Amino acid sequence: MKLLRSRVTVAFRLTIWYVIAFALSSFAAFLVLYVMMISDIHRHTDKALVDKAKEFSLLLNSQGVEAVRAEMVRESSSTGTGKVFFRLLTFDGKELAASDFSAWKDIGIDRIALKHTTADKPVFETLAIPGIGYKVRVLYAAVGSGEILQIGHSMMYDERILEGFREIFGTAMGIVMILASLVGWFMAKRAMSGVEEVTQTAIDISNGLLDSRVPVKGHGDEIDRLASTFNSMLERIHALVTGMREITDNIAHDLRNPITRIRGVAEMTLTGGGTTNEYEAMAASIIEECDRLLGIINTMLDISEAEAGVSKLTMEDIDITQLIKDACELFDPVAEDKGVGITMEVADCLRVIGDKQKLQRMLANLLDNAIKYTTAGGSVTLSVSRGNAHVVISVNDTGVGISDRDLSRIFERFYRGDQSRFQAGSGLGLSLSRAIVLAHGGDITVTSLPGKGSTFTITLPHSS
Ligand code: ADP
Repeated sequence: MKLLRSRVTVAFRLTIWYVIAFALSSFAAFLVLYVMMISDIHRHTDKALVDKAKEFSLLLNSQGVEAVRAEMVRESSSTGTGKVFFRLLTFDGKELAASDFSAWKDIGIDRIALKHTTADKPVFETLAIPGIGYKVRVLYAAVGSGEILQIGHSMMYDERILEGFREIFGTAMGIVMILASLVGWFMAKRAMSGVEEVTQTAIDISNGLLDSRVPVKGHGDEIDRLASTFNSMLERIHALVTGMREITDNIAHDLRNPITRIRGVAEMTLTGGGTTNEYEAMAASIIEECDRLLGIINTMLDISEAEAGVSKLTMEDIDITQLIKDACELFDPVAEDKGVGITMEVADCLRVIGDKQKLQRMLANLLDNAIKYTTAGGSVTLSVSRGNAHVVISVNDTGVGISDRDLSRIFERFYRGDQSRFQAGSGLGLSLSRAIVLAHGGDITVTSLPGKGSTFTITLPHSS
């Protein structure tokens, strides 16, 4: 089973490919070398035979047939009568002189070769001798005035060299293949180790070790890139999961208080003994708490909807100046009650393409906050002006301001600053405002000085 599994691993397949590629290239190299060796051996043998024929030609011309015969006998016995033979022939194949032929009885005279032999063109043949495993290289060369010399050279030694070469190669190939398999396996394992680390990390994470990360070696190779991409993906998922957990905790926390209060009031009604007025007050209190709960849930849904982007908006051409005037009018009585003055600095008829209801909601949130966090005697100023490609709306107040610590977090869901402790609210207003502005392709920023006031600036693309 383990063997079967290792057979399908990439490392195993890589090793097999490596060994096959190595074996094929080694074999090709051997073949080339072998062919070159054979042709080199033939070239040398042929040259030696031609040189020998020239020597005999000179001897025949200068000293005649008898001297040639004596030289043939001497030469063949000194080299070995089984290794070489000489035969002097007439052009029609009659033997004039020959060396010891006892070892070469089966070598005949090739008439066709005789016919083709000319003074400047010798003829070569390679013959297999029956009963002997080796071959013989035979030369027919014209010598003297009208004779042909037949020289035979046993290729036993050459073939033994080639045979030795083949044996050495076979053994070397065996050793090399074993080494290639080991090296291939080592290299494939090394190359795949990064992937295995990613797999191991994934296993660790699925086993609950959520902080596991793939070690990045710093080589800058593909595996390193895979590891760092995998790690950044894990970081992102981790951040998302943590964020979602925080939101869930916040929701749970924010829902628990009203539900506890509702339960308390409901319990009181059960104990009985109250007057009708008291029961009415309890019912009103329950309705109020339920409204608060519904408000939180609806705002959460509105944020999700706004975060879904422009597809969820009902876009139209809006006079944003008028929208701001309406919002001011709406909040004027509230501000007056609190002793806060509202002023407007608006340009004439600036238009944006947007969702009227959503933008009204966003303005209402900002105005509500500005009035809520400004003490009596303070003021709130709303202004709208035209920027390069945007309409710029700003909501400024002279209120309590926001500390640096809170400033970076006030747009988070359910986040409420230090100053909001004694104010009603859910910590969702700014999250919703931000989601609405972003869905319109705009931006919202805030600057604030604690104790002096805050300015929220919204940019929206204007309709051209
Ligand atoms: P909340 O319901 O608490 O007002 P928001 O999301 O509207 O929730 O605002 C988040 C927090 O930002 C508030 O709790 C408050 O601390 C701070 N904040 C918002 N607007 C202002 C403002 N105009 N002045 C001072 N603090 C503000």
